[in-house]
Amino acid sequence: MKKNDIKKLNIISVTSEGNGVAKEEEYVFFVPYALVGEEVNVKILKIKKNIVYTKLIEVLKPSPNRITPLCDNFYKCGGCTYLNMNYENQLEYKLKKINDALERIGKLDIKANYIIPSPVISGYRNKALIPVSKDLSGNIICGFFKNRTHNVIDMEECYIQDKDAFGVVKTVKEWMNKFNIEPYDEINHKGLIRHIYYRKGVHTGDIMAGIVSYNKSIPHLNELTDMLLENISSVKSVILNINDKHTNVILGEKTITLYGTPYITDKICGLTFKIGSLSFFQVNPCNVGNLYNKAIEFLNLNKNDILFDIYCGIGTIGLSAANKVKEVIGVEIIPEAVEYARENANINNITNAIFYTGKAEDVIYKMEEEQNTPTAIILDPPRAGCDKSLICEIIKLKPEKICYVSCDPATLARDLKIFSESGEYKIKEVIGCDMFPNTFHVESVALLTLSTAI
Ligand code: SAH
Repeated sequence: MKKNDIKKLNIISVTSEGNGVAKEEEYVFFVPYALVGEEVNVKILKIKKNIVYTKLIEVLKPSPNRITPLCDNFYKCGGCTYLNMNYENQLEYKLKKINDALERIGKLDIKANYIIPSPVISGYRNKALIPVSKDLSGNIICGFFKNRTHNVIDMEECYIQDKDAFGVVKTVKEWMNKFNIEPYDEINHKGLIRHIYYRKGVHTGDIMAGIVSYNKSIPHLNELTDMLLENISSVKSVILNINDKHTNVILGEKTITLYGTPYITDKICGLTFKIGSLSFFQVNPCNVGNLYNKAIEFLNLNKNDILFDIYCGIGTIGLSAANKVKEVIGVEIIPEAVEYARENANINNITNAIFYTGKAEDVIYKMEEEQNTPTAIILDPPRAGCDKSLICEIIKLKPEKICYVSCDPATLARDLKIFSESGEYKIKEVIGCDMFPNTFHVESVALLTLSTAI
């Protein structure tokens, strides 16, 4: 077997990133876009010891789960991986991803038995940060990156984005063309516009739209605001975010409000939340209520509970649980998010919640010192998972119950292993929740209880 050979394979499994897997003799083949149960022809691209990377050439026997992707950019774009299969199959893959991680990384004998489907699978994303670039002829192009590259695919729509997102893209593009505003060139560090910012409060209709720029001296910003307000109804906020760093991090630390409020508003679990441009907010508003309700149900809270909401963002989960507990104490690293968490407590007349700013792994000591010892904890870290020192401190604090909400099964499994190996905690239940239809990402919720509990 050598590079460029064509080979027939049977797909027997799927990786956590959604690639089909075939095995033959000592070789393991990865086949992007091939589904479990299919017979396919592939071209060999690269052989690395016993791992073979391939390109799908032809599906000889298609899976009954295969469907025609409803997006023309599917095979180019790095955004979605699962638009070529029905939704039931996506859910099955995602559950397998969680269970593979629990078994292989966590060495745990617990399994996630079910996954909460998303009620909506197209147009669900309430946020987009869309790269801006130039094509070889010098035309301005906006869209997501081509798979594993920084080359922008020019797009006029996206199957999973909220329908107004590309109206904002079209308007920013028109503005750039009209006033000769240059996109940022990440190789030579010249030009201005890096990304287009879009966020919608789906339950209120509020839209925040704007640009991320390399430099703050941009001409014709008034015209940009006018054009956005004219073309897209319900724009409540127009922003300019400045990012002068030479990094892949999209947003800079400073946002200037060009029009309207520095936040937009959305509703979850019957509460109203103000969301700032730099603050995290779940991207699938149709399933976020189900996610939070499951986390709260897992904790079986009562009026004596002291609840720590660790990695609290703008306070969404803790505030949704506030009426069930004695006190909510949140911690979050982004100062803007903490300001909104406090504001969100106020606007919802919640008086039993306080919030700390800083790294959870540092601030936890202060929270213990100044507040009551927690009886319940919510952990909702970013993809990297929890800092080990935070987990060790939580184990010492011995809250009765912990709910771990995770957007990466691999780090969830790694962290659950630490809890489990401490001997202090049992992993009682894990479930999936699909916050990211058509992509290989999946959210999970795990309940941990003290081993000594009956
Ligand atoms: N629970 C919130 C936010 C979850 S996202 C919600 O459901 O909306 C994870 C959050 O953790 C982000 O707001 C991020 O800014 C924050 N974060 C990341 N690292 C952190 C750290 N070391 N300490 C505290 N917060 C952190």
